[in-house]
Amino acid sequence: MPIVTKLWVTQLDHDVRDNSGTHPIEVRQIPTEQAIAQAAEMLSEGGLIAFPTETVYGLGASALDAHALTRVFEAKGRPQDNPLIAHISDLQQLGQIAQVPNTIAQRLMEAFWPGPLSILLPVLSNVPKILTAGLDYVAVRMPDHPLALALIAKAGMPIAAPSANVSGKPSPTTALHVVGDLAGRIDGILDGGSCEVGIESTVIEIVEDTIVILRPGKITRQDLLPYAKAVLFDPYLKQGIEAHTAMTPRAPGQKYRHYAPQGQLNVFFGESVHNVQSMMQSALIQAKQVGKKTAVLTLDAHVFTHADWQQQWGDEKAETLMQQLYGALRTCDDLRSEVIIAQGPPDDEQHHALINRLLKASGGNFITVS
Ligand code: AMP
Ligand code: MG
Repeated sequence: MPIVTKLWVTQLDHDVRDNSGTHPIEVRQIPTEQAIAQAAEMLSEGGLIAFPTETVYGLGASALDAHALTRVFEAKGRPQDNPLIAHISDLQQLGQIAQVPNTIAQRLMEAFWPGPLSILLPVLSNVPKILTAGLDYVAVRMPDHPLALALIAKAGMPIAAPSANVSGKPSPTTALHVVGDLAGRIDGILDGGSCEVGIESTVIEIVEDTIVILRPGKITRQDLLPYAKAVLFDPYLKQGIEAHTAMTPRAPGQKYRHYAPQGQLNVFFGESVHNVQSMMQSALIQAKQVGKKTAVLTLDAHVFTHADWQQQWGDEKAETLMQQLYGALRTCDDLRSEVIIAQGPPDDEQHHALINRLLKASGGNFITVS
């Protein structure tokens, strides 16, 4: 039985109101403070509330309530072996889920919180096993978004919040994305406009005096270097396109799709923009010849006349591309694009997280053009 999802419109967002008509939504346009109070009360009663963070929208539930956490996995269709990140609004809340952090963790918290850095800490025994998928460590972060912080503070407990999408789909960066995926399955959605960062947090663990990056994000290896003796990537995260491409056939486990559009995404990389764009053009013509509906995502204003739809999803600036990535992939889905041809970003540290998401979203369909 679908439930009616409350949608708190905390700012006048016509897009959400005008496009949520076919969904089981009850729009509540009330002052932000009241919206937060209502949402926080539902969280403390075991409800599921989607809320904005600076990275992507999160699907929140009490990190201490096993029943609510089970509902999160069900609503998203998320496999239970994939642990959730707990979100806190102040350092005192850490004490409810994790052991006292070591010096490196403390320095990282001072430097990067609130912000897009999730840190693995030894979990306390009272925390429901489902939060960490039975692991001994819990990932924790303090989000840098006023609505998220106010909601968690009001709820008064750590809030588990995976991305508020159906598992496998591109993460949501607007309230409307959440409505499309989860209306009727969750109790409420707090609208807070578009997310500033646009991709998920950097996830790290600390092993003695070394930081290991488990998932790249806006906070890069370079950013973390001053805080540890060494900063390494988890071995499964190969750096650079060449490494990814070379590794894909040998490591099929890495090929599983995530953040993925419905259509087949192909990402083209290369030093020469001209050569990359002519390969994109050939791929486009091939797709058209077999009658596919196509979409093209570019980094400049070059026009692909054969495309059913085209968008310049950003320039080469990593910040813009991160902000736009999931929205662009979701538009491809809305348009029912069957083949998506994207121009990939430069292969450097700033774009590492983007390349990681593109690798997963494309199932490894990277084409390097010489
Ligand atoms: P999402 O909630 O969709 O942003 O995904 C959270 C991701 O954080 C998971 O897929 C894991 O990769 C990582 N993560 C969360 N908790 C842990 C943990 N306890 N140990 C290792 N990785 C974790
Ligand atoms: Mg996710």
